[in-house]
Amino acid sequence: MKRTHHCNELRPAHGGQTVTLVGWVHSRRDLGGVLFIDLRDREGRTQTVFDPSDLAKEVFERASHLHSESVIQIIGKVRVRPFGTNNDKIATGEVEVLVKELEVLNDAAVLPFPVDDPEVANKVNEELRLQYRYLDLRRPEMARNLRVRSKVATATRVFMDEQGFLEVETPTLFKSTPEGAREFLVPNRREPGTFYALPQSPQQFKQILMVAGVERYFQLARCYRDEDLRADRQPEFTQVDIEMSFIEREDIYALIEGLLKRVWHTALGIDIPTPFKRISFEEALNRYGIDKPDTRFGMELVDFTTEFRTSTFKVFSGAIANGGVVKAMNARGLAGATQGQIETMTEYAKSFGAKGLAYIKVENGEWKSPIVKFFSEAEKAALRTKLEIAEGDLILFAADQWLNACEILGKIRLYCAEVLKAQGKLVIPADRFNFLWVVEFPLLSYDKEMNRWYSSHHPFTAPVTEDIPLLKTDPKKVRGQHYDIVVNGVELGGGSIRIHQPAVQKTIFEDILAISPEETQLRFGYMLEAFKFGAPPHGGIALGFDRLIAILCATTSIRDVIAFPKTAKGTCLMTDSPSGVSARQLRDLHIEVKAAVKKD
Ligand code: ASP
Repeated sequence: MKRTHHCNELRPAHGGQTVTLVGWVHSRRDLGGVLFIDLRDREGRTQTVFDPSDLAKEVFERASHLHSESVIQIIGKVRVRPFGTNNDKIATGEVEVLVKELEVLNDAAVLPFPVDDPEVANKVNEELRLQYRYLDLRRPEMARNLRVRSKVATATRVFMDEQGFLEVETPTLFKSTPEGAREFLVPNRREPGTFYALPQSPQQFKQILMVAGVERYFQLARCYRDEDLRADRQPEFTQVDIEMSFIEREDIYALIEGLLKRVWHTALGIDIPTPFKRISFEEALNRYGIDKPDTRFGMELVDFTTEFRTSTFKVFSGAIANGGVVKAMNARGLAGATQGQIETMTEYAKSFGAKGLAYIKVENGEWKSPIVKFFSEAEKAALRTKLEIAEGDLILFAADQWLNACEILGKIRLYCAEVLKAQGKLVIPADRFNFLWVVEFPLLSYDKEMNRWYSSHHPFTAPVTEDIPLLKTDPKKVRGQHYDIVVNGVELGGGSIRIHQPAVQKTIFEDILAISPEETQLRFGYMLEAFKFGAPPHGGIALGFDRLIAILCATTSIRDVIAFPKTAKGTCLMTDSPSGVSARQLRDLHIEVKAAVKKD
């Protein structure tokens, strides 16, 4: 039963050898009475040939009844394919195996979807793929994703080891802490009414490991967040979690640049240039309208606040008088947008809080727009020069408070890029990776509804040292020592230099975030206590591992790079989880389930 070669191994040099192969029946063709079966194993595919003139009748008979995806073993002779019949698409495409013996190791039932069709992901409903995930994972495209994931995990571990990091496992039965997202709770059988929480990240443990003198920690850590799932989120996901002592931001940048260089080289054979560019949060918003800019194309936002301050066009001058700004962008080549398309864009902008979407179409040398008649010659001249307006352009405006105006146009910028891509007017090469550090985030953001400050990153992030006095006088101006790593508009990860003095940490919790001293003690007491015993200065970062692999595999869905992902409703369709439990289990856990309340 021992195979002599795997299905990606045979080459013309093996010609004449008798080999044993095992695997799954990938595809079959009947050409003039001769059967061609592509045999597939984890490594690849080999064409096998069942020629009735050269084979026991009974063996040929069995071969003709083989079902797709049955598991077989064959013994046969390798031969170089006849001239002109090579298959360039597979590594073994110059040879085939002329079968002498066949054993069916296991028959396969009729498949819910074909495994040999690379277009399955586009044709078959994803729920069916998730229900039969073991079949889906047999597809070469998915098998490749798992392989890339494994290779990148190994490369990460090797690299981190070379850099002197220890991989330390931290608990997944943790304690509830208000770190942001909703948590998954695990009831404690031993003490009714108490719960573990699954960690949203090993943040607190990794900081404690620094107090413990580990100095350089990393972990491929499983994290859990009970959030409503957006397209690219999962309730459990993996992070490359990192923490270091006695370092500054520059050390983290250099480490991650080295790691990503290694990873890109391992997975794609691409040598990415380092160091990466850096951009401040403010500049990212000003130029791209988002804190994770895709810099592979232009269409940058341009500020016209000065030009329209005294404009007779009240929508603009009024917004400015209210403390707002006027921003515009040039969607080059989109002047042909129909009224319907402009309306769709306007509705889209409104869904992000815009009041409307002013525009100018530049067609046949004319500026077509409902608002241009209000503009002065000087205003028009400013637009023409700063936006380099030319025939075929579509100019779009936002007039609002700074953040809103930036964010609205930022969304429209991405939307226009998609339209231009679909029209073939914007072409981005697949191997273009624009890495960027986004830095100088505000430490705090204000929640108007709750009337309180919250941490932009998390409460352990250190303020920029010279901004510390502003904590008391003007908290919104305080910059955090926080950094995000972005590639092609995707946030790959983020981290910060941490607060390591217990007094500063306590001020943040109690004076700024308005967490009561009792609550602080209850939730973070052990951390503040630990910090009293010689906490070194430290900082770290976490990279979203699933997202990283999705980028390397050029897929837009992280579900494609997770072996057994959950649906947007958080369910596993293969195992049918979450599921009910027995009354006895509930009793043991001191839990009573209220009957589902019926909504009318
Ligand atoms: N724990 C943070 C997160 O999960 C990352 C970090 O600050 O290191 O986003």
